[in-house]
Amino acid sequence: MTTAAAPGTAAGAAATAGAAIRLDQLTKRYPGSAVPAVDNVTMELKAGEVVVLVGPSGCGKSTTLKMINRLIEPTSGRIRIGDEDVTGMDPVRLRRRIGYAIQSSGLFPHMTVAQNIALVPKMAGWPRQRIRDRVEEMLDLVGLDPGEFRGRYPRQLSGGQQQRVGVARALAADPPVLLMDEPFGAVDPITRNHLQDELIRLQQELRKTIVFVTHDFDEAIKLGDRIAVLRERSHIAQFDTPEAILTNPADDFVAGFVGAGAALKRLGLTRVRDVTVGRLPTASVDDPLEHVTGLLTAEGTSEVLLLDRRRRPYKWLRHEDLARAQGSLARAGTLVRHTVTRDATLRDALEAVLTDSAGRAAVTGRHGEYTGVVDVGTLMNSVHEMLEADRLDAIQHRHELEELRAARTRREQEGTDADQARERA
Ligand code: ADP
Repeated sequence: MTTAAAPGTAAGAAATAGAAIRLDQLTKRYPGSAVPAVDNVTMELKAGEVVVLVGPSGCGKSTTLKMINRLIEPTSGRIRIGDEDVTGMDPVRLRRRIGYAIQSSGLFPHMTVAQNIALVPKMAGWPRQRIRDRVEEMLDLVGLDPGEFRGRYPRQLSGGQQQRVGVARALAADPPVLLMDEPFGAVDPITRNHLQDELIRLQQELRKTIVFVTHDFDEAIKLGDRIAVLRERSHIAQFDTPEAILTNPADDFVAGFVGAGAALKRLGLTRVRDVTVGRLPTASVDDPLEHVTGLLTAEGTSEVLLLDRRRRPYKWLRHEDLARAQGSLARAGTLVRHTVTRDATLRDALEAVLTDSAGRAAVTGRHGEYTGVVDVGTLMNSVHEMLEADRLDAIQHRHELEELRAARTRREQEGTDADQARERA
């Protein structure tokens, strides 16, 4: 974002702020389906808040969202926006009050950026000059230079730029409500991160009521003032602040959902050297057999790792192998097939552990020397600990964001007070 909207324009102080939304026993039964896609959902969204609907694919998030702007007609139930029951309202009129942004931006390819953004204001019959001004203002708002972008076609934009134009179009008629259906689902992770940051910044200015659908729990934590975790048929498993859901998941379904993607991501991001690995008693191929026998008869030891002369993992030795040793360690045990280096990710380590017949892998240092052992237990413990730490970080991050927002609001208020004082003087 380069330029902020001037105060007093539609996107600034005079913009339409959010309206409360109430879904009352909302149900959708698609023709020919035995069970409803959305079953009796009741939900209240406060004016100006961002509510994220999150849940597994097919649980009815999109259907719920599209019933709010009646792209999908509810089978039964009611919808209120602000003080008004809009369930029976003409959908075209309704949609002027509800911005809608979707994955892959949904821009019309044969229309320029300006024409795309002007769509709803035009339908609403705004005068030409007002529409022109509004297009410039919206491009500014989403961080695109109007001179450069207004005449381009969608195919001449990057994915992230298209998504920005999609948001500009959704906001063009200054609706109190904005529906966003996985809007950042199709862009790369770095662009997605930027777009999320910009949405947070935009929302600080606009304070619309935003209903945001995603299947990515991290995105939900980042963007939501409140998160509704949905299970099948849009049954609400938990509807609360991100902090409450992270620290106090309502049940196993929510806990599982909170953890699911995070655990796999963690496995791919963490190196073996960053976790505590296990230890096994070790012996060298040159040690006398009695020494190994001694180790294996010690309490709690079922396995010894035999190292070669350069201390590299060589063989796994169990008690029953000793009978076959016939006086020489070289003849006994199972060759070590799976090693992982300290620089491998936990994902690679898990792969090695799962393909090993006894479910463990030796960890080696830079010269192939033995440094430890991992098994499923060690990996699980590490991931659990890290997820716990991640959650605390996420909560800390949100607290910091909230403090920033509060400070900003205070500064704005002080500015307004100072202006008023000057006017009076
Ligand atoms: P989500 O957004 O959570 O992935 P959807 O709302 O898209 O879920 O879908 C919810 C359920 O409704 C799914 O089982 C899906 O197959 C079904 N569904 C969605 N759209 C239609 C449709 N137009 N006709 C029939 N079934 C549909």
